Amino acid sequence: MTADSLNEAEAANELMRLARQINRANRLYHAEDAPEISDAEYDALVRRNAELEAAFPHLARADSPSNKVGHEVAASPLGKVAHEVRMMSLDNAFTDEEVGEFLARVRRFLSLPADEPLVMTAEDKIDGLSCSLRYEHGRLVRAATRGDGQVGEDVTANVAHIADIVQELKGEGIPEIFEVRGEVYMEKGAFLALNAHLMDEAREAAESRGEAFDDSKVRQFANPRNAAAGSLRQKDAAVTAKRPLRFWAHGWGAASHVPGESQHEVIRRIEAWGLPVSPQFRQCHSLDDMLAAYRAIRDGRAALPFEIDGVVYKVDRLDWQQRLGFVAKAPRWAMAHKFPAERAETVLESIDIQVGRTGKLTPVGRLKPVLVGGVTVTNVTLHNRDEIARLGVRPGDRVVLQRAGDVIPQVVDNLSREEPRDPYVFPDHCPECGSEAVAAEGEVDVRCTGGLICPAQRTERLKHFVSRAALDIEGLGEKTIDEFFAKGWLESPADIFRLRKRREDILALEGWKDKSVDNLLAAVESKRSPDAARLLFGLGIRHVGAVTARDLLKRFTTLPELRALAEQAHVKDGEEEVKAASDAYAELVSIDGVGPVVVEALGDFFHEEHNRAVWDDLLSEVTPPPYVVETKESPVSGKTVVFTGKLETMSRDEAKAQAERLGAKAAGSVSPKTDLVVAGPGAGSKLKKAAELGIEVIDEAAWADIVRAAG
Ligand SMILES: [Zn+2]
Repeated sequence: MTADSLNEAEAANELMRLARQINRANRLYHAEDAPEISDAEYDALVRRNAELEAAFPHLARADSPSNKVGHEVAASPLGKVAHEVRMMSLDNAFTDEEVGEFLARVRRFLSLPADEPLVMTAEDKIDGLSCSLRYEHGRLVRAATRGDGQVGEDVTANVAHIADIVQELKGEGIPEIFEVRGEVYMEKGAFLALNAHLMDEAREAAESRGEAFDDSKVRQFANPRNAAAGSLRQKDAAVTAKRPLRFWAHGWGAASHVPGESQHEVIRRIEAWGLPVSPQFRQCHSLDDMLAAYRAIRDGRAALPFEIDGVVYKVDRLDWQQRLGFVAKAPRWAMAHKFPAERAETVLESIDIQVGRTGKLTPVGRLKPVLVGGVTVTNVTLHNRDEIARLGVRPGDRVVLQRAGDVIPQVVDNLSREEPRDPYVFPDHCPECGSEAVAAEGEVDVRCTGGLICPAQRTERLKHFVSRAALDIEGLGEKTIDEFFAKGWLESPADIFRLRKRREDILALEGWKDKSVDNLLAAVESKRSPDAARLLFGLGIRHVGAVTARDLLKRFTTLPELRALAEQAHVKDGEEEVKAASDAYAELVSIDGVGPVVVEALGDFFHEEHNRAVWDDLLSEVTPPPYVVETKESPVSGKTVVFTGKLETMSRDEAKAQAERLGAKAAGSVSPKTDLVVAGPGAGSKLKKAAELGIEVIDEAAWADIVRAAG
């Protein structure tokens, strides 16, 4: 939605959400080196925030992300360094028009006549970690990261291991004090090698501890930038020494005097003193010149050994830079022209078919590893039979990947489409059990018809059963399940609880030691009295998700009670049964959050004899205590609360869940039984009725205080 079509409440809400999202992204990126979203997505959030703040300036928040550079240095083992001259960030442009506007702004600010030449510099913007190097009398005395722009971390000992960073400047005209600013980065090849090394190291460590190795638990770096940051910001500089980091300079901070009158003169000076600068640094004499530089750099980026994410333009004359100055966190004399979402070419090496818990056959493309949008991609989902046909992809094809708004990479083009080769034939039999695989009418998904005889469906169900949201059995990873399943030790969930009888067998397997087997068995035993809702969810009944499972258990409190009603609801013939069924059915669908689809799925599940056997078997091993909705003591315990009007900081569902947790009942309408009304803007008749009945009314903020006070 465009910013000006929003009303104030909507804008305030979105600004709050954006502040939260952007601050979280900043923290993950700068302080923890573990981003969750791509740079392109991040830029989109920041732009949206700026757009809303421009349309609603009075709604700009105190914690607005536009006031911040990076993230404050927190919980760092490294010392802090205050920057004498603040380290700025750059404003971004995404289109040629925006670059034109930037140039026009500069001219306007400086009141330059149209024929007055305005020289700019252009250079590639490397995707690294900003660093400030302080040289006194030509000797490196301190290196610091950017941090929040004002205070960074002391990495002097760490940069001593970076060959590009000279300890002493050599040459003419070195000022007494001079702070060089630039980027520490890691080349793409080194990044891939580092991740491979971390994987090997973890495997060896697991083997030496006698534990089963689970590669999904190994912490690798998401992209070269994070690898560079994680490698530089080490308390033990010896770790940094082992990481192949590089550096180049692109500016300066505090200086006892500036050796030149233009950006390019000073950059060339820094280069002459022995520090690398971008080989693509150049001067531009017009907008066309700048855009040509942008295109040349963009088109050549894939061939560079490191990642760049845009082109930086700066006003060349330093006296003009001085006059232009800064606005908020960024200089008026510089602009980063960002590249669009990244695409990359690679080879589709093979197409694997994965069989999911519900029997769905999903084609997964195995790729020659490639960096796209800053992340290494080795697999890509091809979704389904139709998508493969649409792309016409076959193993061996060269494909184009894109990682944009969506974090998940997509194949967007097949460059080998025209090569005469047989089309890929989507399997009509399940690769796991050999059963027929078919697509139901009108559906694109092909499913295995093998049901519970299909090992893939069974192992996937077991994996789901032990997963974090279900029983959460630690130490029973995917690989272990596959292995135990192949041995015939795990046919159904109940078998997990009989593993203790196989202690000796497990011990005989490679990679298991007394301690790891004990840990596993202890983890299993600790789940003998599992949460009933988690257990129900763990069974993987179609349409019964974690929330639905809780909704069902809130009403029934025990699983046998639920099963009895679900079975009654399923009976289809016989007059008495029909009546019972309809009562049972009516009772089930009347539960909040449960609809006919769920009731039918439950009925279908218990109708299968095999499922009933699995269920009975499981309940002979575990005893879930009666389900209790956990509540907290609060001033509203036992009271009836009504939410009305527009809630700004939470959804209606969240509000109701909060009330429930506080031991209150959330009702839909105001009546004499109502104890409290929480009213947002636009509350109408309910508010009026509450006033008539003399019921206490509070606003959302007061409600939030009650929730907070309850802890
Ligand atoms: Zn199958």
